[in-house]
Amino acid sequence: MQKFCINCRNAFWGGQHCPNCFGGGNVELLDLALPENQKYLPEMQIDVRPKYFARTAMMLVIFGSIMSLPVGVFIFFRGMSESGNVGLWAAIGLGTIIGITWGSIKLANWIFGKQMAEVPKEKGAQYD
Ligand SMILES: [Zn+2]
Repeated sequence: MQKFCINCRNAFWGGQHCPNCFGGGNVELLDLALPENQKYLPEMQIDVRPKYFARTAMMLVIFGSIMSLPVGVFIFFRGMSESGNVGLWAAIGLGTIIGITWGSIKLANWIFGKQMAEVPKEKGAQYD
């Protein structure tokens, strides 16, 4: 469950009190899912959105790097059944794995940068 601190505007994955404010233990964390806390959501967007964007990028990199392994192994075995050149097909298979992984990292970076473009760099000070 995602919680947030109304004092320092940081978001946390669970917990009772904010660890950042006044040495921890004084400011209670609010649950984002509860209806009575939904009114804080517009101002919390600054903190919450990058976390979801980063998670999307991470999932893309993980998915790309894991899925590249069977593709590379498939190309290796497919090539081995055609000819016995182990070195060549191992190099092509490894190259495919590295290529897909590198591509997914590049793509995740690009998507993350595009999504973060509309998020302001600086958080506004809270005076109320
Ligand atoms: Zn706090």
